[in-house]
Amino acid sequence: MMVDIVIVGNGPAGLSCAITARMRGLDALVVAPSANTSWLARTEHIENYPGLPSVSGVKILESFTAQALAMGANLCTGLVRQILPADKGFMLLVESDVVEAKTVVLAMGAARPQLLPGEEELVGMGVSYCATCDGMLYRGKRLGVLSASEEGLEETRFLRTLASSVDYYSLKKHDLSGLPKDVTAVDEKPESLSRTPEGLCVTTRQGTHCYDGIFIFRNAVSLGMLLPDLASDGGFIPVDRGMRTNVAGVFAAGDCTGKPLQVAKAVGEGNVAAVSAAEYIASLG
Ligand SMILES: Cc1cc2nc3c(=O)[nH]c(=O)nc-3n(C[C@H](O)[C@H](O)[C@H](O)COP(=O)(O)OP(=O)(O)OC[C@H]3O[C@@H](n4cnc5c(N)ncnc54)[C@H](O)[C@@H]3O)c2cc1C
Repeated sequence: MMVDIVIVGNGPAGLSCAITARMRGLDALVVAPSANTSWLARTEHIENYPGLPSVSGVKILESFTAQALAMGANLCTGLVRQILPADKGFMLLVESDVVEAKTVVLAMGAARPQLLPGEEELVGMGVSYCATCDGMLYRGKRLGVLSASEEGLEETRFLRTLASSVDYYSLKKHDLSGLPKDVTAVDEKPESLSRTPEGLCVTTRQGTHCYDGIFIFRNAVSLGMLLPDLASDGGFIPVDRGMRTNVAGVFAAGDCTGKPLQVAKAVGEGNVAAVSAAEYIASLG
């Protein structure tokens, strides 16, 4: 399926972009991990959004979402793990599914995952973020899973059906009651990753544990892994006044483009990104 515009993120920037994209007659797909992952959801009262004095973050998000859906935008649950240029646009890896789009709008907010020392160098060389994509490579092997939330439990259950053993490390505190009984919860905090003659190793304060493969599950992806050709500056994405990034057909809006980190700015940028995406699609002929 090829859509006109895939919007990465369901905060104010992404939802505003979806509303204007629909106004311009584009089919718009908004992808995000789950309903209330936007920063805004953590805000009790917003006092500086015009027209809605003292509104809660959840309320404003519900209202934006309802409006986007009513306009005909589609929502899809999942994390966009990678964006690859393709013949007629882009291919996006959403968890283990592929979505094709003519244009992409990045509206992922400002939160970035803190990578472990050694992690980036080992991606694709034994370190993976996708159980469905790479799990088969580890049939009968020893695996380490590093997870930041309960969402890693489901992936771990699948990996346990393939691997000979699975050790589970919590990157952040979360409920482990759903962990399969034959998976070992290691109560140590991973500090770095490395490759040694014993395999791929997780180093903690208490020691080093080696595996054949390591899977990492977090609710965010670093910019460098999402789209390797994308320029970034101090963790933010440089854009021009049309919210165009350095990659043709890729736009960015909201907190991910830099300060001020404010709802009104995110909404305005989402609007501009949609207009620019529509112009870009028209220019493709
Ligand atoms: C406590 C607090 C109080 C605040 N108070 C105010 C205030 O009073 N006034 C004000 O104007 N602003 C306030 N802000 C800031 C405001 O919340 C942000 O500026 C705004 O939410 C930015 O919108 P956004 O759409 O750019 O990003 P976000 O709202 O952060 O949304 C980004 C979305 O993208 C998703 N995402 C990230 N990576 C991926 C990926 N790889 N694939 C799919 N989805 C992804 C995230 O899960 C998230 O849902 C406050 C923020 C906080 C935390």
